Amino acid sequence: MRIAVVGSGYVGLVSGACFADFGHTVTCVDQDARKIEALNQNQIPIYEPGLDTLVSSNRAAGRLSFSTELKPAVSGADLVLIAVGTPSRRGDGHADLSYVYAVARELADAIDGFTVVATKSTVPVGTGDEVERILREANPKAEVAVVSNPEFLREGSAINDFKRPDRIVIGLEDERAREVMSEAYRPLSLNQPPLFFTTRRSAELIKYASNAFLAMKITFINEIADLCEAVGGDVQDVARGMGLDNRIGSKFLHAGPGFGGSCFPKDTLALMKTGQDYGTPLRLVETTHAVNAQRKRTIARRVQLAVGGNLRGRTIGILGLTFKPNTDDMRDAPALDIIRFLQDQGAAVRAYDPEGVDSARQMIDGVTFATDVYDAAAGVDALVIVTEWDAFRALDFPRLKKVMSAPVLVDLRNIYASRDVERHGFAYHSVGRRSV
Ligand code: NAD
Repeated sequence: MRIAVVGSGYVGLVSGACFADFGHTVTCVDQDARKIEALNQNQIPIYEPGLDTLVSSNRAAGRLSFSTELKPAVSGADLVLIAVGTPSRRGDGHADLSYVYAVARELADAIDGFTVVATKSTVPVGTGDEVERILREANPKAEVAVVSNPEFLREGSAINDFKRPDRIVIGLEDERAREVMSEAYRPLSLNQPPLFFTTRRSAELIKYASNAFLAMKITFINEIADLCEAVGGDVQDVARGMGLDNRIGSKFLHAGPGFGGSCFPKDTLALMKTGQDYGTPLRLVETTHAVNAQRKRTIARRVQLAVGGNLRGRTIGILGLTFKPNTDDMRDAPALDIIRFLQDQGAAVRAYDPEGVDSARQMIDGVTFATDVYDAAAGVDALVIVTEWDAFRALDFPRLKKVMSAPVLVDLRNIYASRDVERHGFAYHSVGRRSV
């Protein structure tokens, strides 16, 4: 089967490489010539574990190629996946669909023979209708079926998520697309790939509803963490006790600095706007969004309190910049808000991240980027774990104590138990738990 993927970012590149690995012939297209040039030299523009070997082996096997030219990639393809970005639109928070619609206009002339055009980008309900309208208006003779195929992979475990998904949601209005989509995903499983077919609008909604629900779960446990601190509970025990109930489940019940990243913040906002547009406000989603935005500020204030209330003239060390471990993605990372607050209050910031420093440099000024954990800790008045990279899970506390100005650890991911840190003479602050 021939597949073209338009947009070769976190989603497009992983999807394209995985489809090639299933045995399909895939061309990944991107308008960013530098990205394509790098990919053609086996250089992966993002950090995603396992992606480099997957790309190079499938390129070598002749199943995966990269191009800036949409037309040759698309003509003769059975399936075209749209995987371009849908960031928040400046000013109103709606999803910016200009990239998706630009691709639809380009596709109109390029497709040749019956082609399924599936949107993998996260797009508001009704976008598939508009993509179809654009295609048909620009090329009334085009034989095309427009499908919604939202993507649920998570950065950091994207290959495994793509190859072993809980479900593959396919929303279609044209039955001819069912066979093509089934064929694309058939190699995923020896038996029955977990395909869930529905209408295009429902598929679009499933993606937003899922992300908003997970964001709400995180926000819920964050508020419970605040209550635990006030009344003397332990949020990890509470979350574990809740999660043992199958109806609730243990995932996404980790208290922390608030959700960030390239999806949840923009997707909750976009869903909220859709609800408002249709006169059905989604109050839980609205509250989730507002509570999470506020949380970044209150969490940053904890760092201030941990150093005695005044940040002026202090130096703070930050461990972890990316919004989660095993990615280099800095989009809407909580570290950005936390660092901004610390700087506004007069603190100097040293920061270390195993993969995110290059992206972070482009997004924040005035930070000293360290070469490792102990370099980040040198001379600081407090060290703050913002992202739970494995590299931060077994810190050498005696060594840290020697290099830091004061032994203060703020653990925003609850990686440690208080007694394990405090026995080294550290003041330890975590989330939703009282220190001993
Ligand atoms: P990204 O910014 O990493 O990649 C988008 C790519 O599209 C860029 O390389 C850009 O150059 C390219 N592009 C834009 N316009 C183009 C055009 N006209 N022709 C060719 N290429 C074009 O974005 P991403 O993180 O991969 O996200 C893509 C979509 O998938 C978004 O809608 C996002 O919400 C959704 N999604 C993302 C994730 C995730 O974890 N990143 C997970 C699920 C869904």
